Amino acid sequence: MERTSVIRKMAAELRTRPNLVDYEATRRGFNWEIAHDALAGLPGGALNIAYETVVRHAGGRLRDHLAFRFLGQNGAVRDLSYGDLAALTARFANVLRGLDVVRGERVFVLAGRIPELYAAVLGGLRAGCAVSPLFSAFGPEPIATRLNLGQGAVLVTTESLYQRKVAKIRGELTTLRHVLLVSEGGETSGTPTDVEGTHNLGRLMAAASDDFPTVPTRPDELALLHFTSGTTGTPKGAMHVHGAVATHWATGLYALDLHPEDVFWCTADPGWVTGTSYGIIAPLLHGVTSIVDEGDFDAERWYRILNEQKVSVWYTAPTAIRMLMKAGPELAKRFTFPQLRFVASVGEPLNPEAVWWGKEVLGLPIHDNWWQTETGGIMIANVPALDIKPGSMGRPLPGVEAAIVREGKDGVVEVIEEPDVEGELALLRGWPSMLRGYLNNEERYRKCFSGVWYLTGDLARRDADGYFWFVGRKDDVIKSSGHLIGPFEVESALMEHPAVAEVGVIGKPDEMVGEVVKAFVSLKKGFEPSEALRMELLAHARKKLGAAVAPKEIDFATTLPRTRSGKIMRRLLKARELGLPEGDTSTLEAGA
Ligand code: AMP
Repeated sequence: MERTSVIRKMAAELRTRPNLVDYEATRRGFNWEIAHDALAGLPGGALNIAYETVVRHAGGRLRDHLAFRFLGQNGAVRDLSYGDLAALTARFANVLRGLDVVRGERVFVLAGRIPELYAAVLGGLRAGCAVSPLFSAFGPEPIATRLNLGQGAVLVTTESLYQRKVAKIRGELTTLRHVLLVSEGGETSGTPTDVEGTHNLGRLMAAASDDFPTVPTRPDELALLHFTSGTTGTPKGAMHVHGAVATHWATGLYALDLHPEDVFWCTADPGWVTGTSYGIIAPLLHGVTSIVDEGDFDAERWYRILNEQKVSVWYTAPTAIRMLMKAGPELAKRFTFPQLRFVASVGEPLNPEAVWWGKEVLGLPIHDNWWQTETGGIMIANVPALDIKPGSMGRPLPGVEAAIVREGKDGVVEVIEEPDVEGELALLRGWPSMLRGYLNNEERYRKCFSGVWYLTGDLARRDADGYFWFVGRKDDVIKSSGHLIGPFEVESALMEHPAVAEVGVIGKPDEMVGEVVKAFVSLKKGFEPSEALRMELLAHARKKLGAAVAPKEIDFATTLPRTRSGKIMRRLLKARELGLPEGDTSTLEAGA
């Protein structure tokens, strides 16, 4: 090799020296003040996510640097520099002001991964509003539930999603004052102007100024609302504050190993927390370029994106990796990934074979990491500085203390010190992106804590080397394609069908997507099980809940097992479905 190219190669290697080289020393030397000091902040101790991610960069040397490259479904590419993004967020903030939307009001966004979504999320934050991105595959019912719970004042959506999902529930959205519609295909003709408070977003944006003084929010001021599912009741609105940005910064650095020259691709949709924390905030904080694919999963398309867009850091999910594995090695062999240098995944257990598949096909093993909506950012990870233990979630990041706990005698949890013992995964409370409450549900929030510990609801174990291993969930929530689904929400939608007497919903293990949603239904008098009724119920649920949440399977049952207090025993339904021991059935109602 020529001397100059050797030097160039060495320089490149030096540039991409992992951010986290000595795990123990970095953990010892780290505290959250360090992360806080890396942020710019605003006068008077104020902190605003939009300022940290966009505005400060646009005023400096990153002005013309690519922030996002959007790959449209139809092959169209749209690039936004940090300067462009600053202008768009200012325009959106001015649009809100023009509509008398004030600091603290809630802005919801329901859209695919289009530039307007990103401008609205960041522009809403810049205006001091709390923002809640909703998954565009939700049906009308989950949309209405979340908007009403979150007291949405503004909804940003597209004309087609509005027509398909929102128009029919508009009357139920009592707090909603404005709907801002994105015209598809540049046309504005689809925008209904007859309903008061419905506006064409493009037109308002074009007329707005691209100058806006970022609202100096407090670090503990509400910034993002992410809805997550519990076993019972309505979804929980996890409240996240502007100060969370310190976690996004530190985890972008240590868990995703972001470097300024990176091209980063987070495949998650911003309707889920990963797509906001790591599809929007963390990469912008680090001034890197993000790829956003507007299309759905397609193995060939994904390999092509990795190759053509020269992705260097890739953050994806186990279901996607399993689907790539299924697509077979022949397809993968048609592509090379010379720029790729770090791959991570999150959301559900990553099987060891998938880690090794990464090494074989992408040339890199996959670094699994763990976190949840409530933690706001990555907490436990297989970091570059440590050997990956395939099948493990890794070790706690700098600033994070994790433990395995069990309930002690007096109801206060105690830490299990011995390795390899199963218990609940807990985190020492107080990291910056920790949720600050569930909307209107103080009691449920309080239950997340015991003394100094935040209880995750996950069962896990820690090995002698300090690696954490996922065991399962403590509750009945379902993980399907990495998305958390509450059985109660599905049961409620099915109960609305006139034939249904009672419903129990479980997650049925599935090799590809982790779990599929399966419902057991007993029918009211006068209705008989039939294939036609099964199809009708599936269609009913899909229409109400949307494809992301609706059950894939429905079985009829004459009765469902209930506790003596009348609660359907999903655990038992699941055990019976899987042919597993039924466990403790002492609370089972006689005859069930
Ligand atoms: P969500 O709040 O939707 O992000 O879901 C969080 C839940 O996903 C966690 O509580 C875990 O049950 C699961 N989860 C996330 N990451 C992992 C992982 N790396 N391995 C196993 N389960 C995971």
